Amino acid sequence: MSNLEQYIRTVNDYPKKGISFKDITTLLKDANALQLTGKELFENAKHLQVDKVIGIESRGFMYGLWLAMQINAGFVPVRKPNKLPSEVFRQEYQLEYGVDTLEMHVDAIQKGDKVLVHDDVLATGGTAEAVSKLVEKAGGEIVQFSFLIEIPFLNGRSKLDGYEIKSLIQY
Ligand code: AMP
Repeated sequence: MSNLEQYIRTVNDYPKKGISFKDITTLLKDANALQLTGKELFENAKHLQVDKVIGIESRGFMYGLWLAMQINAGFVPVRKPNKLPSEVFRQEYQLEYGVDTLEMHVDAIQKGDKVLVHDDVLATGGTAEAVSKLVEKAGGEIVQFSFLIEIPFLNGRSKLDGYEIKSLIQY
């Protein structure tokens, strides 16, 4: 069993007081940890039939694209507002204070596509839930949520009821 946790740097009170930020740059810069993480993500996904991998901006792009290539799927970026140039589906979601928005091109996912969603961290689950609604709007079916890190006490899984959820590291 690998111990990827040792490669994650926790930065307290970033980006604001009270948040323990999980910094993956310390994992990405280590050649062995970079390979090992990819292998574990691939092991979790290789048995699935996946048409599209969604990567969530921006740290979900890194392994998201790599994983798509490994499992022979297309890659779809879900982005913050006003970054995608063509027509988009838009989904608002609740933050601790206020709301945020995510967008996906309307032609990115076809009806019936099987979709794997990847991001670096599952915290409260609001981001991942918003992506599930974008995929729903497009008529796709999510077959796995794949995260590097999960923070179980924030209970993100409760927002993703019924979906398969894989995370490599739990805090
Ligand atoms: P949430 O919607 O609360 O599940 O937050 C997940 C999104 O916010 C992911 O895209 C993460 O990159 C980011 N995020 C939330 N909490 C953290 C954290 N403690 N450390 C690093 N990134 C985080």
